[in-house]
Amino acid sequence: MKVAIMGAGIGGLALAQGLHKAGVDVKVFERDPSPRHRNQGYRIHISPVGEEALAAVLPDAVRRRVIATATHPGDLVAGFDSQLQVQFEQQFPVAGPDAVTSVDRYAFRRALMTGLDDVLEFGKQFDSYVETPEGVEISFTDGTSTSADVLVGADGVGSGVRAQLLPEQDVLDIGVRCIYGKVPLTTNVRELAPPPFLRGFCFASDGAGTGLAFGPVVFREPPAEYGDYLMAVLTGTNEVLGTSDDELFTMPPADLWSIVTRSTTSWHPSIRALVAAADPDAAIPITLRTCIEVPTWSSDHVTLLGDAVHPMTPAAGAGANTALWDAARLSKALTTNEALSTYQQAMTTNAQAAVTESLHNAERLFHISIPV
Ligand SMILES: Cc1cc2nc3c(=O)[nH]c(=O)nc-3n(C[C@H](O)[C@H](O)[C@H](O)COP(=O)(O)OP(=O)(O)OC[C@H]3O[C@@H](n4cnc5c(N)ncnc54)[C@H](O)[C@@H]3O)c2cc1C
Repeated sequence: MKVAIMGAGIGGLALAQGLHKAGVDVKVFERDPSPRHRNQGYRIHISPVGEEALAAVLPDAVRRRVIATATHPGDLVAGFDSQLQVQFEQQFPVAGPDAVTSVDRYAFRRALMTGLDDVLEFGKQFDSYVETPEGVEISFTDGTSTSADVLVGADGVGSGVRAQLLPEQDVLDIGVRCIYGKVPLTTNVRELAPPPFLRGFCFASDGAGTGLAFGPVVFREPPAEYGDYLMAVLTGTNEVLGTSDDELFTMPPADLWSIVTRSTTSWHPSIRALVAAADPDAAIPITLRTCIEVPTWSSDHVTLLGDAVHPMTPAAGAGANTALWDAARLSKALTTNEALSTYQQAMTTNAQAAVTESLHNAERLFHISIPV
């Protein structure tokens, strides 16, 4: 069996590892010219679901790299108002030395690429496919093509494979924009940060639609490119942030970060001090998108996983974990000659629960109403 995976994101790489381990002829095609392209680093919470999927697909040496490059586990999730009054708090026992509870996306993808040099091709952007009785012919935007028995669209929220397979499938913009940033964890920042912000994911909100999430990324072994940081993400609608999309998505990073400064001028001084200590060049804008219903389809040769089929808001911390679940389930299907429809049925049921939870959480966290 020959499998072609579009997209070397979290789900595509995990699937490639599972198939490669089982001796399947697999290739991953990624549009970025290299793994370092774009600012790819943000904190991703890995749940027991994600950990179990990683254990199922990764060869031991790769799993060791993932563990080594993950962050030190936290022990807290907490919510605050803008004056740092605790709104809720949940403590957890600190996980063991082999636990993977959160990762930096860039370091995680690099670890997931371990041993895949002959499998990965960068600078290959999917264009279209044609199904034939034997399999599928795939064309790239550079004019080249390849063939496979199975094509897996793991090409994220803007998936070109989904656009061709399910042209009627809607992806909803929920109207919330994020300005994502990094506060390098210098000695000074460690001293001025409210202690809970260094223990786990913390979300502060002014109750009127502006939120600021913090999450520590303290590496067991940092990537060569950067060190420990505190992820800081401002959330709000365009109206709340006082910008249009045209402005937001063309602004230089330092101007983006000035929106975060402006939005938090009356917030607690410790929060303002953290905002002031951020690296302004690391700021990036993000649009939050979701599906409402995870689609079903019928094809013996083309399938989807992760954000390509069930984009969801990050409000349940489940997008990457569900992509990993899909990768483990699809790896099992492809290595045991199970019909693709069996994977698709299981994936739809599993992902729908995560999508629905993320919709409810998004409405509560971001003070919005999502038309369903
Ligand atoms: C700020 C933020 C925080 C988040 N936090 C969490 C969290 O804590 N926990 C969690 O579970 N999830 C989280 N998520 C969601 C998570 O990042 C995504 O759900 C996850 O990355 C989806 O994985 P994927 O493999 O489906 O797609 P992606 O990781 O998006 O990978 C898709 C890949 O396909 C490539 N590609 C796209 N188009 C083409 C093409 N035409 N041809 C070839 N390649 C292509 C892209 O370059 C990319 O490398 C967060 C998201 C954001 C934005």
